[in-house]
Amino acid sequence: MNDTREDAKEQKGAMELDLEASVAKSLFLGNIIEENLFPFPKIEAEETETLKMVLDSIDKFLEDHREDFIAFDEQGAQPEAYIEKLKELGLFGLIVPEEFDGLGFSNKSYARVLQQTGRYDGSTSLTIGAHSSIGMRGLLLFGNEEQKARYLPKLATGELVAAFCLTEAGSGSDAGSIKTTAERQEDGTWRLSGEKIWITNGPFADFFTVFARTAGEEGKLSAFIVEREWEGISTGPKEDKMGIRASGTCTVSFENVAVPAENLLGEEGKGFKVAMSILNSGRSGLGGGCVGGMKECIRLATAQASQRKQFGRPISEFQLIKEKITRMTVQCYAAESLMLLVAHYSDSGCRDYSVEAAISKIFGTEALWSVAHDALQIAGGNGFMKEYPYERIVRDSRINMIFEGTNEILRLYIALTGFKGAGEYLKEIGKSGANIFNDPIKGFGVLSGYASKKFTQLTSLGRDRLEGVHPLLEEDAALVEQYVIEFSRAVESVLRRYGKEIIGKQYISQRIADTTIDLFASLAVLSRTTDLIEKKGEEGTETERNIAHLFIQGAKRRMNQNLRRIEINEDTLQTSVADAIFAHGKYPWDIIER
Ligand SMILES: Cc1cc2nc3c(=O)[nH]c(=O)nc-3n(C[C@H](O)[C@H](O)[C@H](O)COP(=O)(O)OP(=O)(O)OC[C@H]3O[C@@H](n4cnc5c(N)ncnc54)[C@H](O)[C@@H]3O)c2cc1C
Repeated sequence: MNDTREDAKEQKGAMELDLEASVAKSLFLGNIIEENLFPFPKIEAEETETLKMVLDSIDKFLEDHREDFIAFDEQGAQPEAYIEKLKELGLFGLIVPEEFDGLGFSNKSYARVLQQTGRYDGSTSLTIGAHSSIGMRGLLLFGNEEQKARYLPKLATGELVAAFCLTEAGSGSDAGSIKTTAERQEDGTWRLSGEKIWITNGPFADFFTVFARTAGEEGKLSAFIVEREWEGISTGPKEDKMGIRASGTCTVSFENVAVPAENLLGEEGKGFKVAMSILNSGRSGLGGGCVGGMKECIRLATAQASQRKQFGRPISEFQLIKEKITRMTVQCYAAESLMLLVAHYSDSGCRDYSVEAAISKIFGTEALWSVAHDALQIAGGNGFMKEYPYERIVRDSRINMIFEGTNEILRLYIALTGFKGAGEYLKEIGKSGANIFNDPIKGFGVLSGYASKKFTQLTSLGRDRLEGVHPLLEEDAALVEQYVIEFSRAVESVLRRYGKEIIGKQYISQRIADTTIDLFASLAVLSRTTDLIEKKGEEGTETERNIAHLFIQGAKRRMNQNLRRIEINEDTLQTSVADAIFAHGKYPWDIIER
């Protein structure tokens, strides 16, 4: 009865990735899909060699431009010669397959490259990232052979730069409401009309992935490849932005543009799916950039805190500085672990990882925001001065929580997608005669009951084990297992209470999403730390194990709070105060009457 995680692991044998399964969605059912978590992914040796060469050339080139990034930021532009050099370095062909003259990198390597550029400059990462992550990704995912052969070689060299055109003045988060139209003509061509706003790379892009409504204003969305050269295309002035100022952002207008029939991307009417698939699949690029930004902040902050003396000692000796450095490190470690797992799902052809991708986007972007804030605080007044990089990093990192799906919309997506799966499962059980919806006492606990059973059947400790986890992480793993059960119990209770009305319950959905994020991030951290222990041994991994423990303890505190507040909360008061303030249209109190 003294079975260990090691024994259980041996009994189960090697684990293979389940391409149909979603780890995050399964958590709603109280299930941990271990085969999609262990072993932690790695970049193939062959690819590593090329990757190292690319990283070296990036370091060599960007290190010399550190001062220039301040000027690019002030001017709000990257000089043409600078962009040309990025092209020469191969940075526009990172994910283009080798047969089309690109480097053919996996998403893991692609993210690692953007991590490197992200260490130097957010705008540089964005210019490259908007091209590969969203601008031309639709062509890779949905393009036919003829389209790929026509465009990919030129996109690989940067002869063509790509942009993604979805947002309009009246359509941001609600992407399904776009007004741009494409009308099919008798000769099979399309007439494209409409205006897209805030298009990254818009000022100089030559290749646009454009989303438009086909078959009139009520029609479904379709995606098109549009070339700048064609008549009727114009771009507006460059936007003057808070951050990532050197990257190019502008309006792109289409006035009766004739689009050849062969430039429809994917199937007619399936444009929404094309757009969402692009955004999902492209998330590791943004994640890589965020991790790079965090690593740079940690490098800057440790140097600053070691050099700066106050009260006769380097400030690095004070606990409130150490607390920040640790927090920054733990967040970066978790974000990197998440980002690599998601890139791996994309590389392996997993078909259902959109919830995990949303989690890594939210986590990575908020972690960078917090890390940049801490780094600036450690730098004190210097952090506020333009001659230091901190304020620029803070400005640059703010946009990440807004574009490629706002973090609010993605949180709702995580919760509602998870609820949908769990709801369907419960309905299936209901159909099989269990009468779970009509008999609240007998029927309750289907999800958590299943999870509890699973977690109690194997061991004398009263728990199944995450077999892939290293025994040194036993305590942390047990905590995660326990919270998966509690989470599925909460999911079931919410579903029974609200049914379909859960769609309107955003406070609750947010708590469920945040718990999903904490659980999946904890699992990613356990997987990565296990891998490091296996490689480096117990002796060499004390810091990694401490980081894992700190992350999971923090997750526990947040999950406790979120799960408890599903039942006991001030949601009604919260709504009431907001409604009162909306009615006033301002903060209505003052200590004097005017
Ligand atoms: C610098 C920059 C670059 C960009 N690059 C591109 C690009 O290359 N291509 C492109 O197509 N677009 C691009 N965008 C657009 C970007 O994707 C959108 O700004 C984003 O999707 C949000 O849309 P919105 O700004 O209209 O905000 P809105 O949708 O109006 O949202 C405003 C606020 O309301 C919240 N909100 C909205 N709906 C709900 C809801 N149902 N429940 C709760 N909260 C809600 C949002 O989370 C947000 O906080 C870019 C934007 C910027 C600023």
